[in-house]
This record gives sequence, C-alpha cells and structure tokens, in this order.
Amino acid sequence: MAKVAFLGLGVMGYPMAGHLKTKGGHEVTVYNRTGAKAEKWVAQFGGKSAPTPKQAAEGQDFVMCCVGNDDDLRQVTLGPDGAFAAMKKGTIFVDHTTASAEIARDLYKAGQERGFDVIDAPVSGGQAGAENGVLTVMCGGDAEAFARAEKVIAAYARACNLMGAPGAGQLAKMVNQICIAGLVQGLSEGLHFAKKAGLDIEKLIATISKGAAQSWQMENRYKTMAEGQFDFGFAVDWMRKDLGICMAEARRNGAHLPVTALVDQFYSDVQAMGGKRWDTSSLIARLDRF
Ligand code: NAP
Repeated sequence: MAKVAFLGLGVMGYPMAGHLKTKGGHEVTVYNRTGAKAEKWVAQFGGKSAPTPKQAAEGQDFVMCCVGNDDDLRQVTLGPDGAFAAMKKGTIFVDHTTASAEIARDLYKAGQERGFDVIDAPVSGGQAGAENGVLTVMCGGDAEAFARAEKVIAAYARACNLMGAPGAGQLAKMVNQICIAGLVQGLSEGLHFAKKAGLDIEKLIATISKGAAQSWQMENRYKTMAEGQFDFGFAVDWMRKDLGICMAEARRNGAHLPVTALVDQFYSDVQAMGGKRWDTSSLIARLDRF
C-alpha cells in the first residue's frame, strides 16, 4: 500500500483514482480544479481531497495525473500551486494525460533537478477501459522508476509497458492515434458505400469481420456508425488535439503523415457540423450528408 495523489478527476481520472482506492488499497488524496467533483469522489470512495495540486502532492509516494493538454499539465505541475513544489526526493510523478513528447521530456528534467522521477504514461482504452480498470498504458522514463510505478498503475491497467526513454510513452500513443485516424476513415467509407449499395449491414459485417478487414473499430462501432449514433467515448475535440500533437512531432522527426493530416481536416468538418463532442467514429457523418 502506498500514499498516492491523483490530479484531475475527469472522464478518465475519476474512475482511475477510484481503482487506486478500491482495487489497489492505496491511501488516496485527490485534487480536481472543480472542487465539487473531488467532493463527490471522496463521498463515493473515501480518501481525502486537497484544494491545490501542491497540497495534494505533499507527503505522497506517487502523484498520478490525468488532465487535458500540455498547458493544463504545465499548470498542475510547475504552476504557482503546482505539485512539483511539494514533491519529496525519491517519489514518482506519473502522467496519464495525452500530451506532447516535448513536455514529457521537460517534466522529466524538472523532476531530475528536484530529485524525483517522472514517467509519461498516456493511456488507451477510453472511458470503458478506465471504468473497468483495463487500460493499456504506454510509458516513457527510467526502468527503475517504471518498475515501482507499474505496481500502482496495475490497479487500472490490463497492459503496462515501458516503451523507452522519457517521451517514448507519448510517442507510442501518437502511433496509436495515427493508426486509428486512417482506420476509422476507411471503415466510414466502407459503411457509407455499403449503404449506397443497398447491402444488409448486419450480414456484411458478420462476414467481412471474420476476414482481413476485421478491426476493433469494425466490431465495436459498425452498428452505431451505420445508425448515425456518436455518443460512445472519445470526443472529436480531443482527437484533433491528439492529431495536432502527432503532426507537430512529425515535423520534428521527418515522418510523412498525409492521411493523418487529411483525416484531421475531416474532423474539422465534423466539428463544423456540430460534432465537437461526438465520438471519433463520427467521420461517417460527413459522408452520409450526401
Ligand atoms: P475530461 O473529462 O475533460 O477531464 C479533464 C480533467 O482535467 C478534469 O478533471 C479537469 O478539471 C482537469 N483540468 C483541465 N485543465 C485543467 C487545469 N488547467 N488545471 C487543473 N485541472 C485541469 O478529459 P478526459 O476524457 O478525462 O481526458 C483526460 C486526458 O486523457 C486527455 O489528455 C485525453 O486526451 C486523454 N484520454 C482520454 C480518453 C477518453 O476516452 N476520454 C481516452 C484516452 C486518453 P475540471 O473538472 O475542473 O474541468
């Protein structure tokens, strides 16, 4: 059992922090910018809440975090009431935000200067993965710190792997998002075509999902995509944030991402159609307009 703080009780952070308490048996202190959510969490799970990241981080062995983007992350770590001002030597900061590799490296360096470790640990598996405690976690950082952090992360992970040096977890998550972007567009075009062709969608998917076209997106999203329902998790606004991070990194490392760049533009169409909070499978909605 460890003393653990969790910063950011959003769609992902709220259930993740809950697993630390119920499954991990840890002593948990939570911080959330909107205090009401922290109070709700404490009423549901027990534990304690703190009014600032700095106060939450005081005296902890681990500080976990899951906020929105690079700016939010900078604020809760290095800001005036940030966690880094209170973290003891020898402790570990684990960041589950999907952010840039650059900030992951900056935070690692800031941690080293202060005598504690930082692991970038973005997740995949969505809201359901967080609620069921079966997330995939991609980590970057030092092996020894990872070995200690992995035992705590286990409370909400099905798979947790060290991908390499600081920032490598974020780079792995970028690959994950690049793969999803092109795939969802392909699936959208397939389903759109199938409707125009008058095929029986159930029969079609039951058949082709047993062959080479099979994917998680096909098996889990074909039905709702065909019915124009897009209320199943990861929002288009978040996806555009992630694709922006991928393309900025590609400018640095020289990778060519033509389809990713195009799909990012397609998602901007979806936003203009009112779909900012629709889930990522809503790419089909731009095709089905015609
Ligand atoms: P969310 O529901 O919007 O929650 C964001 C959390 O961050 C909230 O607790 C929010 O506090 C807090 N926050 C944001 N800006 C802050 C700031 N400047 N200072 C302090 N706290 C701040 O988001 P989410 O869906 O949990 O996603 C969190 C991260 O996980 C994102 O990086 C996202 O890309 C990634 N992710 C999400 C999913 C998914 O399916 N949702 C899947 C994989 C990865 P308030 O409550 O006060 O707003």
